[in-house]
Amino acid sequence: MMPTARKRVPIACNENPTKGVAVKNKMKTIPAPHRERVARLRAEMQRRKLDGYLVQNRMDQYWLTGFTGEDGFVLVTARQVVLLTDGRFDEAADIESPWARKVLRKVRTPERTAQEFRKYKLKRVGFDPGHLTVAEYNGLRKAARPARLVAVPGAILDMRLLKDEGEVAAIREALRVAEKAFTRVVKWIKPGRTERDISARLAYEMQCLGAQEVAFPSIVAVGPNASLPHYEPGNGVVRNDQGILIDWGARVNWYVSDLTRMVWPGHVPPLMAKIQSIVKEAHDKAIEFVKPGVTAHQVDAVARRVIEKAGYGPQFGHATGHGMGLDGHEAPRVGKGTKIVLKPGMVITVEPGIYIPGKGGVRLEDDILVTETGYKVLSTLPC
Ligand code: ZN
Ligand code: ZN
Repeated sequence: MMPTARKRVPIACNENPTKGVAVKNKMKTIPAPHRERVARLRAEMQRRKLDGYLVQNRMDQYWLTGFTGEDGFVLVTARQVVLLTDGRFDEAADIESPWARKVLRKVRTPERTAQEFRKYKLKRVGFDPGHLTVAEYNGLRKAARPARLVAVPGAILDMRLLKDEGEVAAIREALRVAEKAFTRVVKWIKPGRTERDISARLAYEMQCLGAQEVAFPSIVAVGPNASLPHYEPGNGVVRNDQGILIDWGARVNWYVSDLTRMVWPGHVPPLMAKIQSIVKEAHDKAIEFVKPGVTAHQVDAVARRVIEKAGYGPQFGHATGHGMGLDGHEAPRVGKGTKIVLKPGMVITVEPGIYIPGKGGVRLEDDILVTETGYKVLSTLPC
């Protein structure tokens, strides 16, 4: 069937949009959950005496506005949310953020962005320095004059720390898909299959089950390869006398899951059995310690103490976990020195490991929601 011409959203405001390119969408009130998120950002802007805030990161934009387009700059002022994008995302912007003022720019230049600053007479515009390249910053700083750019590191990331019910439901769905795919793949694993076979099969099963994509490239490491915590799957072949470390996740509705399990196709070598029981104890004790009021550092310390006491401290060279949500790795880092205090609504991973070069490694990872009274393990696969 031939596509019919799409109806343009009529201009429904008194403002003079920039000639021919800006469209004020029909919906005026911001629906939940974005209403509350925009309000929180505005409160933060007020606190920092900013009259504008520029969001460049795609996941920050999605969290704030629901817009998923690859090309987007969101400018938040005291009264307006402006979505700068291009013609490819015209329809997506109408569907996903009909309440924002859409500007379809023909060229992605600092001047075009600065034009919006001038339209709202902005003087101090915040931005996240982690998401703007030096070239973009220099260009925009010049074009924006006399408006000043003010670096506010991690402003939206900090707000993303606490997940609402919808976000937790999305993470649960990403877990359900990842776990079901894993269960299918484990039945299919047998000696002779390679790490790459397993990684590809996991991605295939997750997509069949509803994942948009893999949350990150899966780590599948056979035998001694598992001593490299961030190993990339290669030609390692499954054997009856070696374990397989699998660290994988699905992205569903933009939210991710992140799990690690050990698979033993045959017998478990005694050293690996010993290591696995130590890692399991560290994993369980750290999870049981999770509750509001403790710091991420303390959760890490609980896991680390178990492994150190067993004599494997130097073989546990990474943090115990990390926050997760729209990104696979978000704040808080659950590691040494992280002073962030856990609060209900945070979702973190707990994933201690022991790695012995030349022999192998064991890591066990689960996704944990901090609740009012303690914690809830969101993953359901036994380990
Ligand atoms: Zn992982
Ligand atoms: Zn992880």
